Amino acid sequence: MNLEKISSHGLQEWSKVADQAKSRIETRLFIDGDFTDAAGGGRFDTINPANGETLAAMSAGMPEDIDRAVAAAKSAFKAGAWSRIAPRDRMETLYRFADLIDEKAEELAVLETLDMGKPIGDVVAEDIPAVIDTIRFMAEGIDKIEGSVTNTDHDAMHLVIREPLGVVGCISPWNYPLLMAVWKIAPALAAGNTVVLKPAEQSPMSCLRLAELFVQAGGPAGVLNVVNGLGETAGKALALHDDVAKISFTGSTEVGKLILQYAGQSNMKRVALECGGKSPQIFMSDLPDLENAVDAAYNGVFANMGEVCSAGSRLLVERPIYNEFIERFMADGQHAYQPGDPLDPATNMGPLVDRGSQQRVLGMIEQGKQEGATLHFGGDAPRGLEQGAYVNPTLFGNVNNAMSIARNEIFGPVASVIPFDGPAEAIAIANDTIYGLAAGIWTKDINKAMRLVKNIEAGVVWVNSYEDGDMTQPFGGYKQSGQARDKCLESLKSYTQGKSAWFRLSSD
Ligand code: NAD
Repeated sequence: MNLEKISSHGLQEWSKVADQAKSRIETRLFIDGDFTDAAGGGRFDTINPANGETLAAMSAGMPEDIDRAVAAAKSAFKAGAWSRIAPRDRMETLYRFADLIDEKAEELAVLETLDMGKPIGDVVAEDIPAVIDTIRFMAEGIDKIEGSVTNTDHDAMHLVIREPLGVVGCISPWNYPLLMAVWKIAPALAAGNTVVLKPAEQSPMSCLRLAELFVQAGGPAGVLNVVNGLGETAGKALALHDDVAKISFTGSTEVGKLILQYAGQSNMKRVALECGGKSPQIFMSDLPDLENAVDAAYNGVFANMGEVCSAGSRLLVERPIYNEFIERFMADGQHAYQPGDPLDPATNMGPLVDRGSQQRVLGMIEQGKQEGATLHFGGDAPRGLEQGAYVNPTLFGNVNNAMSIARNEIFGPVASVIPFDGPAEAIAIANDTIYGLAAGIWTKDINKAMRLVKNIEAGVVWVNSYEDGDMTQPFGGYKQSGQARDKCLESLKSYTQGKSAWFRLSSD
């Protein structure tokens, strides 16, 4: 059932859809156009974090499965049925792929919610539309990126030709299982590469369906392969593989550093990294509208349970408006997100991805309390939802940037408010982090806004909004948040390589 039809589903309908989906979960790997069990027969459980139920025992890909998938991708690339066809033909297949995702939105959405606990309303309103947009944007871009003819002396002709790379390995995280995978596979495929995707082991279900839909859309076998498995076995084998031309990775900074090492230990493959963040939002006392700004503050850190790389988790508030900011945050933000059943479209906050994450986040909250931050609300697990990995939305005030809650990525619904005096101190605090993914600036003064934009070390800066934008916007980090750029045409181009062809012309 397509996106439009499912937008009016209630809890009852979604529960029925979930029961049907659970009875036919695909657990195998998808290699060379077909489902296949992992060579060693190993499996790992995938758990519904809303209630602890084991959903399925998924095939656990091992290095030999990665070898099989890379071999299939390599031979599909060499065969040319994708890499060498007219760009417009690839474009048509990708448009059909996007249309099929729309048609099958109901089953994709329910798999996403069961697997990682994301509220179904968010999947339907945000994730799936963004997946479709990404594929369409990259398809449109296929024949819009061009090589060049450079200026040379009169007896030469120089062309720079853009060519696909070959086999691209994609390693994705669990916080937006479909979307983060598609931010990689859509530009990689659009550019004519073939792909082996290793999804996160916490959310292995939905991307298998995606690969099947690609083949139904007319994608040749072997062009898109999906190998589930653990990071340190399947992910590592992919990143170390000598026949992989590029690894596109989204995940933690810690694992991002390992991926760089694997590239160095193997074939010097290209590495694109989208890693963690500890993004600041700076609220100057001359901001245009406090109510709006506070809305953006709590939405920026509580949406998707705070499991967002660009979550605005450090809220820097200028001292003259500090008390008013906290009061309004408590009045408007404390009850804006209510943990509940993620299959209910009325729920806007599901569980964290697993019990381990819940315990980690609660532990970090405890540390914040011990370090002397003021806990204004939350800080615990909600009553009545003990069977799931839930954490209440949490607000800390009087945080200073040296505290662990201001330094470490929490990846949960925890906001830390840090007071400051004047733009210079705001910049110093904002930049005092190993990360540099995103930032927000709130001020009516355009001069101040521009100065802050120029001085903030982050790949994405929003002024008087947060998490805004469209597909043209490059998304990626400075510093240890990584060096890749997703979404934009620059991303599509990053899955190609330039070949310089220099012609010396004879005189006749
Ligand atoms: P993670 O680093 O634990 O895992 C990410 C992926 O890497 C998974 O598929 C995992 O199986 C794989 N992996 C783990 N160890 C590996 C290894 N040794 N070799 C190869 N692959 C390995 O991250 P996560 O917990 O899944 O995701 C959360 C992190 O992702 C957060 O830090 C978040 O900020 C980041 N993230 C960044 C962006 C961005 O665009 N910058 C977007 C989403 C998430």
